[in-house]
Amino acid sequence: MCELIMLGTGNALVTRCYNTCFALRTPGACLLVDGGGGNGILRQLELAGIALGSLSAMYLTHAHTDHILGAVWVVRAVAQRVHSGTFHVYGHDRALHVLDSICRLTLPAKVLSRIGTSILFHEVKDGDTVHVGDVELQCFDILSTKEKQFGFRATLPDGRTLTCLGDEPYNDACRPYAEGSDWLMCEAFCLYRDRDTFKPYEKHHSTALEAGRLAQSLSVKNLLLYHTEDTDLPHRKAFYTAEAAQEFTGHIVVPDDLERVEV
Ligand SMILES: [Zn+2]
Repeated sequence: MCELIMLGTGNALVTRCYNTCFALRTPGACLLVDGGGGNGILRQLELAGIALGSLSAMYLTHAHTDHILGAVWVVRAVAQRVHSGTFHVYGHDRALHVLDSICRLTLPAKVLSRIGTSILFHEVKDGDTVHVGDVELQCFDILSTKEKQFGFRATLPDGRTLTCLGDEPYNDACRPYAEGSDWLMCEAFCLYRDRDTFKPYEKHHSTALEAGRLAQSLSVKNLLLYHTEDTDLPHRKAFYTAEAAQEFTGHIVVPDDLERVEV
């Protein structure tokens, strides 16, 4: 069985849930994607029942605070875990540079000695394919205009595919990585009907309605929405699902923090 374990589902400034990050667990791998904005990642991993030692690797999408600062804590915690083993970190040049710099400025020498020995950073370039256990990841540049960001298309052991578009609106140059995917993970900053309140477009974000339209145009089977505002979490699942369903006829998932989604 393969599952997504959503460790966080919120945008950068949420206070009622954690920043968007997740684990992709397959029979042969447990891949952490981003770390959220801080030490809260350790709590989320604990609540999700994910032991640090069971993590195969971490994939970084980009170096914004709500994604990379938690990764510093993951590096620290992995370095200080009792048992040995190699932990792999994948990211583009800028994300790895930022993570490495923050680690060197803030972590003790004993932890830093593990970077390059048992914690290995691997730079990926646009179009690269890497393997994490039984998962194949095709990394691609989402062509952000504000911060270099990579998404990925994961091919699961059974051949099905899952595309993560990161946390910015889709660029049609990425169509080969997203079209026809079994799963599409896409940001939805807020509901379209609340666009005047949250102003998603000026923040380089989109809404549940546009995510639904995108999923329909890409002929994906399942759409997962994340990286949202957090003002009405009790109704988020119902409202976001209903709005995306105005445009998308496939299956829609709007997970809460710590929700597990079979993929
Ligand atoms: Zn973000």
